[in-house]
Amino acid sequence: MNGAAMLALQEIDTALDAIGHRRPRLAEVATHAAAAAALADLRRQQAAVQARVDAARAAIEAAEQAAHELTAKRDRLDAQLKTVIAPREAEALMNQIATINTQRSELDEQELTAMDDQTVAEEALVALAEAEPAVATALAEAEAALAAAGAGLDAEAAALEARKVEALAALTEADVRAYEHARHQHGGVGVARLDGHRCSGCHLDLSPAEMDVVKATPAGEPAECPQCARFLVR
Ligand SMILES: [Zn+2]
Repeated sequence: MNGAAMLALQEIDTALDAIGHRRPRLAEVATHAAAAAALADLRRQQAAVQARVDAARAAIEAAEQAAHELTAKRDRLDAQLKTVIAPREAEALMNQIATINTQRSELDEQELTAMDDQTVAEEALVALAEAEPAVATALAEAEAALAAAGAGLDAEAAALEARKVEALAALTEADVRAYEHARHQHGGVGVARLDGHRCSGCHLDLSPAEMDVVKATPAGEPAECPQCARFLVR
């Protein structure tokens, strides 16, 4: 086994794993999410305020339509009133007319309230429309920053992938299989370096007797860490 080449491959894979780990944790990801949420919130507010405007317009239209119908009815009653002679009949008509007048007043009140609602909602729409460009620009900037940060990581990953092809070329198929197996077994780090008396995989020190075993391994061959069982390269 080519211990040095396996360690080189491990360092490349560790760097690639780190990029994969960094990608979702980029500050640009959080900034972009916040900017997207702000625009979505603005759109929701716009939709809600637009619904208020629409409701107010519908209420005004309905009040006007009802008032129109009441007016027509009152005109008919007024005409009728001019033709009746019996006082009781005239009184009944005048009562109906009075009722209609009360209803008309109520409708007018309703219409005024709806008009106020419409004015307030339309002002809110204008304010939201004024706020929109800044929110949209912030999102566009966040998108560009995220794309740039992602491209930076892509470039780093591409350079590592190119080095990985070279590192793989230095290994036999059996070495690669052993390497992949060890990497899978040990949470992504199957090959560790011996730093002095310490395994870089588990960060534990080897005893003098364990060091003797490691040193007895033929040069270039990886040993095995007695603590974590990773390949250990001198
Ligand atoms: Zn170890």
